[in-house]
Amino acid sequence: MVAQRIDGKVFAAGLREKIAGQVAALKDEHGITPGLAVVLVGDDPASQVYVASKGKQTVAAGMNSYEHRLPADAGQAELLALIGRLNADADVHGILVQLPLPAHIDEAEIINAIAVKKDVDGFTVANTGRLATGQRAMVPCTPLGCLMLLRDQLGDLSGKNAVVIGRSNIVGKPMAALLLADSATVTVAHSRTKDLPDVVRGADIVVAAVGRPQMIKGDWIKPGATVIDVGINRTDAGLVGDVDYDSVAQVAGAVTPVPGGVGPMTIACLLANTLTACCRANGLPDPEGLTL
Ligand code: NAD
Repeated sequence: MVAQRIDGKVFAAGLREKIAGQVAALKDEHGITPGLAVVLVGDDPASQVYVASKGKQTVAAGMNSYEHRLPADAGQAELLALIGRLNADADVHGILVQLPLPAHIDEAEIINAIAVKKDVDGFTVANTGRLATGQRAMVPCTPLGCLMLLRDQLGDLSGKNAVVIGRSNIVGKPMAALLLADSATVTVAHSRTKDLPDVVRGADIVVAAVGRPQMIKGDWIKPGATVIDVGINRTDAGLVGDVDYDSVAQVAGAVTPVPGGVGPMTIACLLANTLTACCRANGLPDPEGLTL
């Protein structure tokens, strides 16, 4: 049997439609337009593409998009001053600093300067702590998108064995926290994990966030497992994930493709978080179906 292909593109389009509807209602009923500020330092080509795409989708959802581009040699103080202005700007409900920042910048200090309520990436220490302790948080966009796909696919995740491969602060660790909060039994594997294929063979849910093209093979997968591929790897053969899709699809119950799986969910979840931040800033209830 060949696995079901989990269509993140279709799911994300549905989310964006839901977001646009709620943004329109917010304008009609309260005269409020959510605003997202994106800060880009330097001219990294991949970051430029991401920022342009975020801006376009923000506007398409009916929200305001503010782009702040700084030269690659912008200093720490200049960047902190900009974050300070955006924190104080009532029209800005979400702030995103595009990573990576140039090497001379103290990335952690910049991220932690973002007001917790405007931290739509969920990368500040405050939001990370809130997520880890089960308090209301801004949830990082990529893991949030993965969890939405998993819940949609499997319903209740309680008691499922989940293996997250990768322990980064932006994907692996928050993904593990979300799965744990949903009562899955969570293993976090990483570059020092021994016998990784054996660890993965016990998993009902596999989330791969490694950055190694097609590393996870079909014979690592428990029959019927659900496999979420976060990896984005540019190879001579084009864009591929961390999962060897063809062999995994022979064994898994369901698997996300690359492209068209997790990728489109990430930006849709950024828009969802911006709307959520705007509602919370205005003392309104969280938007429907867009938070956990
Ligand atoms: P990262 O480089 O920060 O972390 C990679 C993790 O993989 C590390 O924790 C490391 O321990 C682990 N790892 C490395 N080699 C391994 C091995 N051989 N076996 C097991 N584990 C190993 O990467 P990241 O930022 O978490 O991103 C991971 C991948 O996801 C990248 O391909 C990235 O492009 C992609 N990504 C996609 C989206 C999206 O929207 N789809 C968002 C963020 C990241």
